[in-house]
Amino acid sequence: MFKNLIHLGFPNNCVGCSNALVQNEKFICSSCFFFLPKGELKIDKTSESSQILVDSPYFFGASHLFNFDKNGKTQHLLHELKYKSNTKLGVYLGELIGSDFQPFLKEIDYIVPVPLHPKKLYQRGYNQSEILANGISNIILKPVNTDNLTRIKNTETQTKKSKKARIENVKSAFSIMDTTIFENKNILLIDDVMTTGSTLVECMREIGKSKGVQIKVLALARAIV
Ligand SMILES: [Zn+2]
Repeated sequence: MFKNLIHLGFPNNCVGCSNALVQNEKFICSSCFFFLPKGELKIDKTSESSQILVDSPYFFGASHLFNFDKNGKTQHLLHELKYKSNTKLGVYLGELIGSDFQPFLKEIDYIVPVPLHPKKLYQRGYNQSEILANGISNIILKPVNTDNLTRIKNTETQTKKSKKARIENVKSAFSIMDTTIFENKNILLIDDVMTTGSTLVECMREIGKSKGVQIKVLALARAIV
């Protein structure tokens, strides 16, 4: 009975392998966690993730927590977060990102998730990047800003598109409402999956309209295309 009480409202099986979790494990068991393919633990312009993003005066480096393994555990986690409404898992993954990258995030002023178009937000009920941002905020204690960078174009899904088609698809998809809000601020831009980087480049172009802004980018996972 006490066991049931302890686990009340808390999933007690691993989202990676479905085995029962033991004490101190949350969502992912130690074994699955050990085998999750990890990204680089640094945020600067020399990182792998930074190489796919267009360099600009306001860009200060990118990184990601996991490498995307098709049909593997990272894909499973992303599926839970994106399509299964597992927002508690999303907050937890955000907290993992926040804890791992904390030393590189001391000067951040705002955490900004890649926005969804209002129509898509209505359909899904939540923005998965915002859920991750909330988790990061729990750790680094900086505010999440969701109303200054907006998505004005309801783009088609990028999943099956070529790099060139992706760039065209997200062109002018975002808009900054007030450039003074991010003026001289350090922004942490958050995405769930980084693929060709075209979405992030478009977001940065808009945020970059603010004078003296500095942008760092973090994604939960990076997929190699
Ligand atoms: Zn597991």
